[in-house]
Amino acid sequence: MNMLNATDSYVVENVLVPVSLLLDPHGFGGTQISDCLAGDLIIRGGQAVCLRPSTAPCHPSGLITPRLTECHVHLDKCHTISRMGRIGGDLNAAMDAQRRDRMFWTEDDLRQRAERGLQELMSSGCGIVRSHFDWAADPESTSPPLSWSVLQELAVDYQDTVHVQIAALLNTTDLADRAKANAIGREIARGNGVLGLFVLNQPDRHAAIQVAVQLAEKHGLALDFHVDEGLHHGLDGLEIIADTLIETSFQGPVLCGHACSLINVAGEPLQALLDKIARAGLTIASLPTSNLYLQGRSTGTPDRRGITRIGELRTAGVPVVVGTDNVRDAFCPLGRHDPRKSLELAALTAHLDPPFGDLLPMITTNAQTALGLSPTTVDGTAVEDLLIFDAASTSDWLTGTSAPKPLKHALTGEIA
Ligand SMILES: [Zn+2]
Repeated sequence: MNMLNATDSYVVENVLVPVSLLLDPHGFGGTQISDCLAGDLIIRGGQAVCLRPSTAPCHPSGLITPRLTECHVHLDKCHTISRMGRIGGDLNAAMDAQRRDRMFWTEDDLRQRAERGLQELMSSGCGIVRSHFDWAADPESTSPPLSWSVLQELAVDYQDTVHVQIAALLNTTDLADRAKANAIGREIARGNGVLGLFVLNQPDRHAAIQVAVQLAEKHGLALDFHVDEGLHHGLDGLEIIADTLIETSFQGPVLCGHACSLINVAGEPLQALLDKIARAGLTIASLPTSNLYLQGRSTGTPDRRGITRIGELRTAGVPVVVGTDNVRDAFCPLGRHDPRKSLELAALTAHLDPPFGDLLPMITTNAQTALGLSPTTVDGTAVEDLLIFDAASTSDWLTGTSAPKPLKHALTGEIA
């Protein structure tokens, strides 16, 4: 059934809806089975409104979610690994290898690879995607790189099916000159972009973070940091960002990716820092694939894995989301553009135990909020924005063996 009559009511028999993806689970009906509600889903006025008792409650035929949100990928870099030859190493080695690959970044090459990545994300069920792109393809230039216009064109071409946010990934040196920083801020705002900043241990990181927040306030931009992507002691980018946001009362949204070195902090100092992160209103994006591949490198098997403190952050009330980051490039030579796969990896590596229902907002509702968008719960949402998976539990769903299908294709019958 492709055409939906908005005045009719429809039913999807015998499905599960995760409790964590409902605005009002107590008012939605259905029977609770572990972390889901089970029943026949009623569609009225084109929206999911409630569950009614099912005729065969023991064998659910599908699991309903909103379309997924991918909070962090790099569509300018993806699918370059096959032309890189023998590479490997830490974050710096990956940056060097990716820099060498830029000689191939023609308009056609960028478009073909980025479009492939975006289509993979759409096939995985994504309705919202944020992609970064490296601003400084030419460090001497003040104008944006070719990837900015290519990604903008792609976003327009696919705007009817997926909402693409584009984040300019700057380095601290890009913000050192005030006039140049202002011009960059204006350009990002003109293209409805997001201001991203790479913060590691640069000597000018403090000033650059302050300029980034000022530009975001002035131009109404969301902020997205790659921060503390390393395991060495003394990385303080996350704390500087939190301090700056508390001082300026910036209202966000602010998403901080990686935060690997948070694993070095424990006890009282950790509690104090977590409290500060919560008060600053930060959301942390855990990006397991690239961190597992690049961090903690030594001569043998790694024992420091680069995953941030997901459990401790959540206990402290800090929203945590999960992103896919790099796919088949110098930063991660494997992987798949699929938020469910990334969340599954985060669950295994950070010991996030079942039932998994509470993790689902990390790639749906909480990820939307982190990107400055209104969260889409199942209740009250249009059928066009809902998916059905062939899954009989949240564990089944998270394992990712079933492809998402549009819910409108599963509507089985009208009810009067
Ligand atoms: Zn990244």
